[in-house]
Amino acid sequence: MGRLGCVDNSTTRRTDPDCLFCKIVAGDIPATVVREDEATLAFRDLDPQAPTHVLVIPRHHVADVGGLATERPQDAVAVLDAVRAVAEQEGVATSGYRTVFNTGAGAQQSVFHAHVHVLGGRSMTWPPG
Ligand code: AMP
Repeated sequence: MGRLGCVDNSTTRRTDPDCLFCKIVAGDIPATVVREDEATLAFRDLDPQAPTHVLVIPRHHVADVGGLATERPQDAVAVLDAVRAVAEQEGVATSGYRTVFNTGAGAQQSVFHAHVHVLGGRSMTWPPG
């Protein structure tokens, strides 16, 4: 069994015992959850960069958005739909919000469990730093 070999056969949902976000999914680390469904979890970022800063993650462990798209396309769709729902719930859908998938250490990805940042509630500049 490999490092990511912890598989719940009833759902084929993969978890990584060393992954911070898998621990949040399991409820082993507290988080301010704002939305959840069968495939995704959305919670407030610990170090918010905007008045609204929510992370949307698949419950299934996969390292990044590329892996999510190839391994779990149904979860990729669920994550995007959760982003839409979170933006509405947070009241930023109309004013505008930014979605960011940092992918790889060079792009400042620090947690290697796919996640999208949903940022809103302030004006944004472009290009990002
Ligand atoms: P990234 O740098 O794109 O990998 O994003 C990881 C994000 O996770 C950062 O914005 C962190 O502030 C956030 N983060 C780290 N630990 C926690 C935690 N326990 N609860 C909520 N957000 C966290």
